[in-house]
Amino acid sequence: MTDPTELPLRPELRGRSPYGAPQPPAAHRLNTNENPHPLPAELLADLGAALGSAALELNRYPDRDALALRADLAAYLTRTSGEQIAREQVWAANGSNEVLQQVLQAFGGAGRTALGFTPSYSMHPILSAGTGTAWVDGTRRADFTIDAAAAVAQVREVRPDVVFVTSPNNPTGTAVALETVVQIHDATGGVVVVDEAYTEFARPGTPSALTLLPGRPRLIVSRTMSKAFGMAGLRLGYLAADPAVVDALQLVRLPYHLSSLTQAAARTALAHTDALLATVDAVKEQRDRIVAELPAMGLTSVPSDANFVLFGHFADAHAAWQALLDRGVLVRDVGLPGWLRVTAGTKDETDAFLTALGEIAPEHRTTLGDSPA
Ligand SMILES: *Cc1c(COP(=O)(O)O)cnc(C)c1O
Repeated sequence: MTDPTELPLRPELRGRSPYGAPQPPAAHRLNTNENPHPLPAELLADLGAALGSAALELNRYPDRDALALRADLAAYLTRTSGEQIAREQVWAANGSNEVLQQVLQAFGGAGRTALGFTPSYSMHPILSAGTGTAWVDGTRRADFTIDAAAAVAQVREVRPDVVFVTSPNNPTGTAVALETVVQIHDATGGVVVVDEAYTEFARPGTPSALTLLPGRPRLIVSRTMSKAFGMAGLRLGYLAADPAVVDALQLVRLPYHLSSLTQAAARTALAHTDALLATVDAVKEQRDRIVAELPAMGLTSVPSDANFVLFGHFADAHAAWQALLDRGVLVRDVGLPGWLRVTAGTKDETDAFLTALGEIAPEHRTTLGDSPA
């Protein structure tokens, strides 16, 4: 193979790493925040029929505007948020990653800047680099929450064109107060993207930023069917915003970007929303069980509104990660000193995780006061 440094690659991409965590074989895979529950049998049957009839028309291009799917997504958002969301406010693409990329193509790009509060979703800076958007790392408090006043000061100083607020945040798990989103929004002239990939798992009393949309045309709320809906393989993400934002995205989306098979499968899944989301409570139960059992092992966690838990402290997080893997449990080393992230799985998976963790904790934990390496 040619030495990649000999290629005329864009200079800002040189030396960067692609997204992706190690995927070594493991009996219990708790590293990518998928919903582990199998899809309901009625949905699988309906998917077969819906994909079969969509296949009859595969000689034709799909509905370029995905009108029926967007209407179904708007109905889901309206039903679950209490906020009236119209089809014209919704846009869908192949995973929320593509939605976010389109937002950056339209509102970021050369000579423009995106700001996010790290640690957060690592794809936000990667998508920024791919679209030629400069990236600035904002900061959080030591407990990983966003200090609204500090965030406003950072926004005023950086003057970003795009601001990312991940709520609930990945990899730390905690949701962001709507008041903080409003203050960040009011401090910038750019667009504010609230990435709500995990919102269905939030603890009670955690409203969605959808409720902030009226009167705020620069606010964008992104969602996905990859997590709570248990459809990560489908690749379906979407956003809600002012219809003017959806119009702007038409300038950068590829024609016919969303295949007819994807549209048919997503609509079928949405028709089974209640059955799909029925597993959310079971996942939250395992999440809360993980949080509750950590202190007895001399460990702690960050409050979680998601389907995962950031837990620690470890003297050497990577050594603890390896020790868990040696016991068949794959979690995520997100590169935060002292911490690891585990996905809340089925009860059996959580049993296996807690058993393995109990075995390795005495050797690997460090007390809160010690500075983790
Ligand atoms: C998993 C995740 C997504 C989902 O991406 P898809 O492309 O929809 O699968 C988006 N944002 C965050 C913060 C995530 O963790």
